[in-house]
Amino acid sequence: MLCGATAWHSKINFKLRRKIRVNSDFKICVNANLLVTSLTTINRYNKNDLSNIVQLTSDLGVHNVSFNCAIPSVNRKKIDASFTLSPQEVAKKIENIYCLSKSQGIKTHFNLTIPICLIEENILEQMIDDNVVAVGCQMYHGKGVAFDPVGNILPCTHFADFPIISLQNQIDLQKDFTSIWQKDDEVCQFREELWRYPSPKCHECKYWGGCVGGCPLLWSFYDPLKII
Ligand code: SF4
Repeated sequence: MLCGATAWHSKINFKLRRKIRVNSDFKICVNANLLVTSLTTINRYNKNDLSNIVQLTSDLGVHNVSFNCAIPSVNRKKIDASFTLSPQEVAKKIENIYCLSKSQGIKTHFNLTIPICLIEENILEQMIDDNVVAVGCQMYHGKGVAFDPVGNILPCTHFADFPIISLQNQIDLQKDFTSIWQKDDEVCQFREELWRYPSPKCHECKYWGGCVGGCPLLWSFYDPLKII
């Protein structure tokens, strides 16, 4: 089932082998001439498999090999960061993946939701030149929307317990969504409050506005003043 798998395959661990069988679905899509993207969330449990994942997805013919980063999970009862790597650890992983994949001629893309200054500057500049980084967060501009299972509207998927528009308010979303989303006081205030510097260093930074200091939920667990 693993067309294209090479010698590295024998070196990888059992869990990843099992994933490979699942991921052979990629090959079916590639063979059907679909544009195929893989998205791997860098986290504590896959941190040692990342370079193998790059090789695997590349061997399977995946067109866009992409990565993002695990963010602490927040709900009304607790903040859980047990599965995340610290932003500094993520930055190192990203440097390694980028350099390794570039040296092998594999193009990888990164949705950077960490402070991008944690990445070594000359590597970051190369990544920007190569057009392989996306930064920022759609919440700051209200460009994305998520729905919970009962239809409440969340500012992003990480706000499961915190609807920004609650169906309890008897709103006719079909009719009123656009005006609420663009003009409602609470929605606008939520966005305004996001636009704050997590660290004084961001104030003068050339990357501010694109990088917004990383995902704001990082700072529900990590201390930005110690990290940025
Ligand atoms: S905006 Fe802040 S977090 Fe982002 S690169 Fe600049 S200093 Fe770092």
